Amino acid sequence: VTFHADKLRVISGESFSLKQHDAAETFDISKHKAEKELKDHVKQLAELHELLYAENKRALLIVFQGMDASGKDGTIRHVMSGVNPQGCTVTSFKQPSAKELEHDFLWRIHAAVPEKGSIGIFNRSQYEDVLVVRVHGLVPKEIWQARYDQINAFERILAENDVTILKFFLHISRDEQEKRFQQRVEDPQKNWKISPADFREREYWGEYQKAYQDAIANCSTKEAPWYIIPSDHKWFRNYCVSHIIVRTLQSFHMRYPKANPDVAGVKTGGKQTPR
Ligand code: AMP
Ligand code: MG
Repeated sequence: VTFHADKLRVISGESFSLKQHDAAETFDISKHKAEKELKDHVKQLAELHELLYAENKRALLIVFQGMDASGKDGTIRHVMSGVNPQGCTVTSFKQPSAKELEHDFLWRIHAAVPEKGSIGIFNRSQYEDVLVVRVHGLVPKEIWQARYDQINAFERILAENDVTILKFFLHISRDEQEKRFQQRVEDPQKNWKISPADFREREYWGEYQKAYQDAIANCSTKEAPWYIIPSDHKWFRNYCVSHIIVRTLQSFHMRYPKANPDVAGVKTGGKQTPR
């Protein structure tokens, strides 16, 4: 089996079932190969990011969603390790502040969208407003249900204004989550990552899967597709995500801008004509 990232993309208009996606899938790619490729992707990503910055024409927005311990932080750390911090922003969306709650749910999101020439990473996103908010009934059903269309409209506005959007759902199994929670309890260096709230959220596993199912089915569009990333194996997860980001940047066919005409005529060491 050869790996095609397209297999992971949720096609708008086609039926989608999260249950049919195996979180432990590796498409017969070996760990050795995936790790080698990841290194390569990280290098390419640094070069492509430099080009994006130089061109200053468009932005790339990468959204990460997933259950607790699905590896949002770890993926960001591994995949973006070679990227120049200048021209890259990471925003982690937590429970909205009192001030944020005084606005529409997209207010804080829009403010964090990357500017031209840069890559923006969302660790959680606008989707929390149809996930945790739905699971815990923080707003009535009519309100969260209307948000699918609102999110699609918002993402279309971004896409039409030179922001390319990639959305990654880091898909782990319930057993894998338990294993990772256990490691967090046992390993003193990982203790800080786990809280009683995480165990409480785990009780809502089924509700979350349903909420993800609907969010992904309703909001995977041509301009802002969802990718389901099998994430039980961290090495496969990193390989897939880095592969898709590199491929997307390559599809821009970017070029370094031509030298500024004022500079082009100036020979190094030559005398400059005074203006
Ligand atoms: P963490 O990612 O572990 O730092 O946790 C952040 C927490 O903030 C998670 O429990 C999210 O579900 C929660 N959160 C993020 N966005 C929202 C939102 N719009 N409404 C309510 N809770 C949110
Ligand atoms: Mg947490």
